Amino acid sequence: MLLAPLTLHTPKTLAELTKLYSELDNVKLQAGGTFLLNSLKLLKRKGTKTPDHVISLQKIAELKGLTVDKNSLHIKSMTTINEIFNSSALEGNWNILKTVCRNISTHPIRNMATIGGNLTCRYTWTEMPAVMIGLQATLHFIDQAGQDLTLSAEEFFKQAAKTNHILTGVTIPNQETYRISYQRVRKTMNVDIPLLSLLITTKITNKKLNNTIVAVNNCVDFAQRDYQLEEFLNTAEIDKKLPETALEHINKSIYDKRSHDYKQHMFRVSIKKALTEIINVS
Ligand SMILES: Cc1cc2nc3c(=O)[nH]c(=O)nc-3n(C[C@H](O)[C@H](O)[C@H](O)COP(=O)(O)OP(=O)(O)OC[C@H]3O[C@@H](n4cnc5c(N)ncnc54)[C@H](O)[C@@H]3O)c2cc1C
Repeated sequence: MLLAPLTLHTPKTLAELTKLYSELDNVKLQAGGTFLLNSLKLLKRKGTKTPDHVISLQKIAELKGLTVDKNSLHIKSMTTINEIFNSSALEGNWNILKTVCRNISTHPIRNMATIGGNLTCRYTWTEMPAVMIGLQATLHFIDQAGQDLTLSAEEFFKQAAKTNHILTGVTIPNQETYRISYQRVRKTMNVDIPLLSLLITTKITNKKLNNTIVAVNNCVDFAQRDYQLEEFLNTAEIDKKLPETALEHINKSIYDKRSHDYKQHMFRVSIKKALTEIINVS
């Protein structure tokens, strides 16, 4: 037997889910299951305690789908990576999410993996965390008592993505006036996981960058912002040399942590490429 014995629950509504979640002990949530099932098998193999109950979120329609209005984009936690990629509601700057989704693993994984699982799985290399920090997303949770809670993506990952709440969705403020670039380098040609990723957003007014956010995933720590580089970018004049000069102002401790020469080099290439893209948009 690969999995230790457990009881699988399949609630159909959020109300049923919260009731179960508050009543059961030693319980784990299952979204797409792409990480969870392997991790349960691993725990069993190591002889570590496994959950007595798994609650699948698959049948809860209230946790699926995305909506866009003039102020924001709301993505519910059980929306899959492929559903985001295929959504006709994502236009203009929201297409950055399609770029992110297109690069995540393969079709079979993208069909199962959810944005909620990507954000809450606590693997430091998944890509949505840096993207959500960069796009200033708010995460919505419900706790065991059924109370709604919100937290910025940045705060959530500063707290090492630790939660025993249920993530119900993310809200991203309208990005229309921002310029955005996402860069990602894959780990090897054979493994479809990233070596590094970063997202830069900024507004350009009077030949200057404003409100710049540099969200970085070094795949060692949880995704974080490079405040040092942001500060430089928000005070610098835009000129052709900016992408190169910016490299003198990066917080090296983020990019160089447990990083070999190739990764350090690719981080610098990615920052330059992102800034070049951003300042060259006419
Ligand atoms: C071979 C492979 C390649 C991959 N490549 C990439 C890649 O290139 N880039 C990338 O970003 N990702 C990649 N991933 C990760 C993938 O995108 C998924 O995000 C990840 O597998 C988890 O999503 P899931 O929905 O399957 O979550 P699950 O496996 O179901 O759950 C993962 C964890 O999150 C918790 N959880 C899930 N949903 C919630 C919720 N709503 N509230 C609270 N807790 C919750 C679960 O309890 C569990 O602990 C890859 C995965 C695999 C297996």
